[in-house]
Amino acid sequence: MNAFGQRIAALIAAQGPISVAEFMALANSAYYAARDPFGGGGDFITAPEISQTFGEMLGLWCVQVWHDQGKPKHKRLIELGPGRGTLMADALRAARVMPDFLDDLEVVLVETSPTLKAAQQETLKDVRVPAHWVSQFDSSLADRPLLLLANEFFDALPIRQFVKTARGWCERMITTDPNGALIFALSPVPAPDAVIPSDRVGASEGAVYERADPARSLMEDIAHTIARNGGGALLVDYGYDEPGFGETLQAVSNHAFATILDAPGESDLSAHVDFLALVAAAKGAGASVFGPTTQGEFLQNLGIVRRTEQLVASYKSPHLSLWTDVDRLIAPEQMGTLFKALAILPVAAPQPPGF
Ligand code: SAH
Repeated sequence: MNAFGQRIAALIAAQGPISVAEFMALANSAYYAARDPFGGGGDFITAPEISQTFGEMLGLWCVQVWHDQGKPKHKRLIELGPGRGTLMADALRAARVMPDFLDDLEVVLVETSPTLKAAQQETLKDVRVPAHWVSQFDSSLADRPLLLLANEFFDALPIRQFVKTARGWCERMITTDPNGALIFALSPVPAPDAVIPSDRVGASEGAVYERADPARSLMEDIAHTIARNGGGALLVDYGYDEPGFGETLQAVSNHAFATILDAPGESDLSAHVDFLALVAAAKGAGASVFGPTTQGEFLQNLGIVRRTEQLVASYKSPHLSLWTDVDRLIAPEQMGTLFKALAILPVAAPQPPGF
């Protein structure tokens, strides 16, 4: 076991077993703090790193939503978990089509990793709008209209897991075996009924339910701000939009699945996003919701094919990878169907583009 795993084992020795959510939060903050995980030499690749058209489409989405609401003043453009800053750079470049969008814009990047914050500052150093960094979305961001983007962010937020047993739904915990290695174990006492949604209560033994409380409460805060101040949020992530999906927690390292407990902090931990839970959270906070719709349909509705034709025409020599890259984003067997887009708007706002 690595040094970080030994630290978790010491924590468990001191305070007892930890939940999957606690483990996920600790392991992911160590993972992202220590590296830039993106690209061929890294662990995984994301849509903005595949094609510049992705960030461009999302930037134009923000401009259109802002325009449709009568161009509210003093708005913020916020990105959650901006990775290398590529999406934001592409979005701001595309947004130049409507210069007054950029006029009084404040850009806020929500990032916990010092390594990735430095990468984002480098990517955005020539951007001529004021940008600053915070480590979480909180009430200091709730006082203005906001346009918020989050790509592959909600999947990194901690989830708890509950397993149906003969004695009820028991939380999956992480503890140590007699040799000190990290292992999964079930809590001896079943979880209170309120933790399990009514449509899962009768599931058969062995069924797994994943509960994303941090994601839900973050969604409530965002939806509240949008309902009150205007603007819109666009989430793109992989996930499911039917109940009863089961276990999705996964570790990814070097573009392949890895084990979850063997080398904690060295692989990216994520869980599929429960879109129905996020829809309920946003509606409960008084916002209206569009989607989830598949990433493929969403990007095609926004005109990604036309934009790619333009790009191809702008190159003097044939540039085949432009089409291959966009195909990766929209083809159903690639990222087009597993990834979904969800929009949160004030109830009075018109239908946003892409849905
Ligand atoms: N959106 C980027 C990166 C996705 S990876 C892209 O599409 O390329 C997840 C990002 O979220 C990383 O930047 C990571 O450091 C950040 N992150 C993960 N958990 C976070 C948290 N709890 N608070 C803030 N940022 C977080």
